[in-house]
Amino acid sequence: MAEKKIPYKIYLEENELPKKWYNVRADMKNKPAPLLNPGTLEPMKAEELEGVFCSELVAQELDNDNAYIDIPQEIVDFYKMYRPSPLVRAYCLEEKLGTPAKIYYKFEGNNTSGSHKLNSAIAQAYYAKKQGLKGVTTETGAGQWGTALSMACSYFDLDLKVFMVKVSYEQKPFRREVMRTYGASVTPSPSMETDIGKKINAEHPGTTGSLGCAISEAVEVAVKNPGYRYVLGSVLNQVLLHQSVIGLETKAALDKYNIKPDMIIGCAGGGSNLGGLIAPFMGEKLRGEADYDIIAVEPASCPSFTRGVYAYDFADTGMVCPLAKMYTLGSDFIPSANHAGGLRYHGMSPVLSQLYDDGLMRAVSVEQTKVFEAAEQFARVEGILPAPESSHAIRVAIDEALKCKETGEEKTIVFGLTGTGYFDMVAYEKFHDGKMDDYIPTDEELAEYRTHLPKVD
Ligand SMILES: *Cc1c(COP(=O)(O)O)cnc(C)c1O
Repeated sequence: MAEKKIPYKIYLEENELPKKWYNVRADMKNKPAPLLNPGTLEPMKAEELEGVFCSELVAQELDNDNAYIDIPQEIVDFYKMYRPSPLVRAYCLEEKLGTPAKIYYKFEGNNTSGSHKLNSAIAQAYYAKKQGLKGVTTETGAGQWGTALSMACSYFDLDLKVFMVKVSYEQKPFRREVMRTYGASVTPSPSMETDIGKKINAEHPGTTGSLGCAISEAVEVAVKNPGYRYVLGSVLNQVLLHQSVIGLETKAALDKYNIKPDMIIGCAGGGSNLGGLIAPFMGEKLRGEADYDIIAVEPASCPSFTRGVYAYDFADTGMVCPLAKMYTLGSDFIPSANHAGGLRYHGMSPVLSQLYDDGLMRAVSVEQTKVFEAAEQFARVEGILPAPESSHAIRVAIDEALKCKETGEEKTIVFGLTGTGYFDMVAYEKFHDGKMDDYIPTDEELAEYRTHLPKVD
């Protein structure tokens, strides 16, 4: 059969949208390690988790067996407003690079949150509403998750309380206003509204906060207020499950033209977009049906995979959350100023951590200025202004395409373009003015944080 000419954008029809999420855990021989109760060190039971999370989401979190889970019709209908997202053939970038490689990217920036986070936000809000809750609480760093969740909560008429890392609250007033436009209340963290916030403020006067601290505050408020639960935008198994919609669409679009990728590349913060993008491909790999070179890209300033350890760790600063076994830098690790706010979490999804530990995927870390060089190069030929987080994947996609130029290999590369960078222009400004640095933590620093890991046998 003659090869079809591949269009610039491969779209799916509305009726081709996935109707089920794919749960990669069902095909994993080595399952991700269970969450542990920080007090007893026993695996968390559903009843314990239900005090913090919505019941249906707890069931999804603990489900290691069912490969496919129905997407409720209400969520499918919401997805229809902004999905399927386009799979773009980067012809212009290929030409500019002079590479024989074929490059595709899955673009998730076409909604107001400017990222893939809406895919899970709408699901989590739906289950909260279905359970009859009044509202939910969460944390946000750079603000994409808070924005996505505020959109989802306003759609389902749920109250939303966001704890926003103080430094971002002050530096990104526009993100905050977007959230308030959708009716969310936004509190800078650490605040004086929670016990843990007061404690952290007393111990570290003038602190500008961290994601781990904002998580502790959001959990405390959810647990103390009847009718409220806590929701999280990454790391958790349930979030990877919802994000599998990215990979399922990507695979369906590629299958239309009989394209089989050689490499799949994504940026990794907590691992949700990458986990979603690779899910069906990893499934084939796990079942021995196909092989793919899967690459996680992380910032050199927050290198959880490449320089972290695989161990149980606290998920938050206040140590109120369950312990998770993951590649981690230690829960009190504070990355240096890095402009990819969404990639600054100290740990990594337990699912991806297990897959990485089993040698089923690899990871590379990249320096910030190199990331922005790639971002600019991409913006100038492909037209999209990429988020700094997404640009980590662009960097490695370009590097791999340039390797193909040397070897003459015609590899097919697929990468996740998770979002747009309109709210990140201060970072772009620093880059343009030559004021961006590339701080990389030393081995001594990382070793010190590692001594604070909880003792679990
Ligand atoms: C949050 C975010 C990320 C990183 O989060 P993951 O859970 O690792 O996917 C990447 N890109 C964008 C645009 C984000 O908002």
